[in-house]
Amino acid sequence: MTETSPSDSGRIAFLGLGHMGEPMAVNLIKAGFDVVGFDVVPAAVEAARGAGVPCVDTAVEAATGAEIVLTMFPSGEILLDAYRGVDGPGLLESAPANTMFLDCSTIDVAQAREAAELALAAGHRSADAPVSGGVVGAEAGTLTFMIGAEDADLEHIMPLLEVMGRKLVHCGGHGAGQAAKVCNNMLLGISMIGAAEAFVLGEKLGLSHQALFDVISTASGQCWSVTTNCPVPGPVPTSPANRDYTPGFAGALMAKDLGLALNALEHTGVAAQLGPLAAQIYRKFADEGGAGRDFSGIITDIRGRSQD
Ligand code: NAD
Repeated sequence: MTETSPSDSGRIAFLGLGHMGEPMAVNLIKAGFDVVGFDVVPAAVEAARGAGVPCVDTAVEAATGAEIVLTMFPSGEILLDAYRGVDGPGLLESAPANTMFLDCSTIDVAQAREAAELALAAGHRSADAPVSGGVVGAEAGTLTFMIGAEDADLEHIMPLLEVMGRKLVHCGGHGAGQAAKVCNNMLLGISMIGAAEAFVLGEKLGLSHQALFDVISTASGQCWSVTTNCPVPGPVPTSPANRDYTPGFAGALMAKDLGLALNALEHTGVAAQLGPLAAQIYRKFADEGGAGRDFSGIITDIRGRSQD
């Protein structure tokens, strides 16, 4: 643990009190941090207040007097608009000089770099720290943080991240956290489609789910999509397949993350074939009823399209 007390971090403006943000803010408060919250949706503010997060009425009010502005937003467009301000002053203008702008949302790598440039140009500091671990990890304080920040800024943000997460990886400078996240989630999407195709093929070849699991989970096909989030019910009792694909990690979020991967692939000119295909497959899955289902539910689509 970093040897800094919560009071050393100063006030944290926590913006975006949704599925992830609210429990993260609650954990910070429980650990003794001075947090003030804000969300554009009144119901989210009410829920956060009910959970013990003191909230203010505007983003500007939250940022004024903050030493850290922590954002947990749905998209990079929303983040950049909030930084710059739309029809009024933005967060960058409202915060005192040298505020740490810590964004934990999952956004485009290029947007993360742009956000950092804007923050630095306005006389602030910046870090991107997207997460993995979902709502369960947010509630339990066991998230993994992928951090893109200057070395000198780490000591300022580590005490907070240690409260909200269990594994913290400093991936490099600004944008490196988002870069790591997009690479990981592209692989995750591809591996889940592969796992689901393998289980459907096993069914057609007369293998039991358990027999195939016992082999793959200890053989060279082993991956998280099989050993933890197994797309068939039975072998891993905690996987979403055992509860009719209730997320877990929703298809809408996988489609979003693969869209970000697609942007990054195009931006960098990587000759990937499976990443774009996975993006297309999960976009269709999300658009056709899978948005609110766990992404391992892709197996039902594969079964549905297969011959009897
Ligand atoms: P969410 O939609 O539940 O929460 C986002 C919140 O931001 C909403 O309450 C929304 O009203 C608020 N918001 C939007 N614009 C705002 C603004 N200008 N000012 C203040 N608040 C604003 O989403 P979530 O599931 O909490 O996810 C948040 C981020 O974390 C996303 O980028 C997502 O991709 C990422 N993420 C989510 C999960 C997950 O399992 N839910 C897992 C890993 C990463």
